[in-house]
Amino acid sequence: MITTAFSGSLFVVAAPSGAGKSTLVNALLAQEPGIQLSISTTTRPPRPGEQDGREYHFTSAEDFVARAERGEFLEWAEVHGNYYGTSRLSVEEKMKSGTDILLEIDWQGARQVKKQFPDAAGIFILPPSIAALEERLHKRGTDEPHIITRRLLAAGGEIAHAPEFEYAIINEEFNAALAQLQAIVQATRCRFAQQAARNASLFAQLGIHAHQPA
Ligand code: GDP
Ligand code: ADP
Ligand code: 5GP
Repeated sequence: MITTAFSGSLFVVAAPSGAGKSTLVNALLAQEPGIQLSISTTTRPPRPGEQDGREYHFTSAEDFVARAERGEFLEWAEVHGNYYGTSRLSVEEKMKSGTDILLEIDWQGARQVKKQFPDAAGIFILPPSIAALEERLHKRGTDEPHIITRRLLAAGGEIAHAPEFEYAIINEEFNAALAQLQAIVQATRCRFAQQAARNASLFAQLGIHAHQPA
């Protein structure tokens, strides 16, 4: 009998700030209704145009720390001087119901997730150059110059952890990068264990049983 507690797949996407992670993920979600983005909780102040509960759940450091101590986060980390965390309850409930979940988190969080969900697909988005990263952060126009400097200084540290991920996408030509992200999603969904979890009755009818390791 093939059993797994979660029939949804888990995707973890990381990148240095400005690599195009949010833009790529938003374009993916617009085309793949089966995937939901986990909305993180953060102590970072909202950027102009950001809405509580849409980009992030914005909160105070006191509230964040209290929740972290209660174990409410599947993972959490301090990134660029702010706390960011993923709600354990909402991710696990959705995955049990068969929804694919995508986490846009930093490498520290990705490591914590991988320990708890070894099958999570880790995807790292790379910029075509550091100069492009800087240009994109300026063009995006959402952060003060000192915040941009801080994020650029942190980029090397984030990129140093890229080898911990299974997949790397170089976001040079946007549509090519998006096609690669979609291909990774499709391939992950076709993993044997995921197909078995999603199609349990078909697999039983076909007489397919779990592979017993030798
Ligand atoms: P953020 O995550 O809140 O920073 O927002 P996004 O980065 O997702 O979006 C910022 C803007 O960039 C939007 O208007 C996008 O449509 C636009 N954008 C999307 N793709 C590209 C691209 O390939 N090149 C450029 N220059 N802009 C893009
Ligand atoms: P991140 O979420 O990784 O911080 P964003 O998704 O906010 O990055 O992207 C940073 C900026 O770069 C945005 O203004 C976005 O429109 C732009 N961008 C994303 N992908 C590309 C690309 N392939 N070519 C040029 N600009 C891009
Ligand atoms: P931004 O402030 O640009 O939205 O995000 C800054 C960084 O925090 C990015 O590297 C992003 O991936 C990371 N991040 C966002 N949400 C989470 C989260 O819930 N957990 C962790 N560990 N990192 C997060």
